[in-house]
Amino acid sequence: MTVRFAPSPTGYLQLGNARAALVNWLFARQQGGEFILRLDDTDQARSESAYAEAIREDLTWLGLGWDREFHQSERLDRYQEALRDLEAAGHIYPCYETEAELEAKRKAQAARRQAPVYDRGALNLTDADKRAYEAEGRQPHWRFKLAGGQVTWDDRVRGRQSVQAGAVSDPVLIRADGRPLYTLTSVVDDLDSGVSHVIRGEDHVTNTAAQIQLFEALGGTAPAFAHLPLLLDAHGEKLSKRTQGLSLRELRADEVEAMALNSYLAKLGTPDPIEERQSLNALIEEFDLTRMGRGAPRYDGDELMRLNARLLHVTDYATVRSRLEALGLADADQDFWETVRPNLTRLSEARQWYQICRGTIQPIVEEPDYLATAAELLPQEPWGETTWQQWTSAVKERTGRKGKGLFLPLRKALTGMEKGPELAHFLPLIGREKALKRLNGETA
Ligand code: GLU
Repeated sequence: MTVRFAPSPTGYLQLGNARAALVNWLFARQQGGEFILRLDDTDQARSESAYAEAIREDLTWLGLGWDREFHQSERLDRYQEALRDLEAAGHIYPCYETEAELEAKRKAQAARRQAPVYDRGALNLTDADKRAYEAEGRQPHWRFKLAGGQVTWDDRVRGRQSVQAGAVSDPVLIRADGRPLYTLTSVVDDLDSGVSHVIRGEDHVTNTAAQIQLFEALGGTAPAFAHLPLLLDAHGEKLSKRTQGLSLRELRADEVEAMALNSYLAKLGTPDPIEERQSLNALIEEFDLTRMGRGAPRYDGDELMRLNARLLHVTDYATVRSRLEALGLADADQDFWETVRPNLTRLSEARQWYQICRGTIQPIVEEPDYLATAAELLPQEPWGETTWQQWTSAVKERTGRKGKGLFLPLRKALTGMEKGPELAHFLPLIGREKALKRLNGETA
């Protein structure tokens, strides 16, 4: 079993790409197959090595390692060889129309209410016609001659598919400037790299019929196909490359956790609940391609952030330790982490709580007399699990306060905040010296 993820390095990976990468990866890992990273970079004007590097970086961030990588730009000779084979077998034919001429044909078809399918005019050219065009300086582009009839396949997501070959234009495989096009390069690569399952976006469904015939024309058999519906935004619009905020770069900058995104994308579009998973292994175990629905799922950024929060709330100290250090929280220990994590939506919010434990804050003092009484009753160190309980019981007994009236002024003075971690755990992290000063209204 071999699958591939085949982005074009003409921009950053988007959510939809990440979903295709993840689904291919989970499928391969579950079946013990191979996961190939293929960079579709034959469009040299638009491909950039910086984007290829960014794609590798993004996949690594997600944790989706690949077994093999290759670039289409290294295989141009192989595509030429495949074209020669196709030409020898009469599967491709040269065409000389300019883009303007093709456009004029499409307009005329539209006026006659016909589908804009290429009319195969070039098949009627004589050798003399071709020589005349070439004498004019025109270089041919080459089309693949589709066989008639129905092309059918059992799509692993969409079910049985059937396309009338006459309803699509013979695809151009090589442009007049010599550049081989995706329809060809993808098939040659899938054949040569033994791809058994092509899992990709629904935008390629119409290519599939032509590609199936091309696999056969090249002497191979077509792999299995699965086309994932495209993601929509909250308004039901397609997530286009131009839509802001949806590249992995941007999600990362917004501190989306890789495992939150993986957990989200693995279940989006399935009937299964979207729940946080701490490891890709858990997602591998649960993965089932047949759960992917045909309907286009909507991406909901708020739901993703809620998942992000839930994931942080159960994340182990060992998993985040180095990242806390990288945030500059040098001695954020396990106690600190476990105390503050229920309050986090984004990891960097731990900074604020670190500052409150280890740094200096301005306490909120609304009832100085009450706080002074509480300060008098503050137990001596060493402090532990039961200190808060002991202290507040004593304060309650002395002042007769209870509930919010008892606790909120203490929280505001000790943390400078109205809400936050459980004080039973947080108070020992603050320590007696700072606590006393804050209860007395001092900046500490
Ligand atoms: N480079 C193509 C894309 O990004 C690959 C499509 C495919 O998986 O065949 O759309």
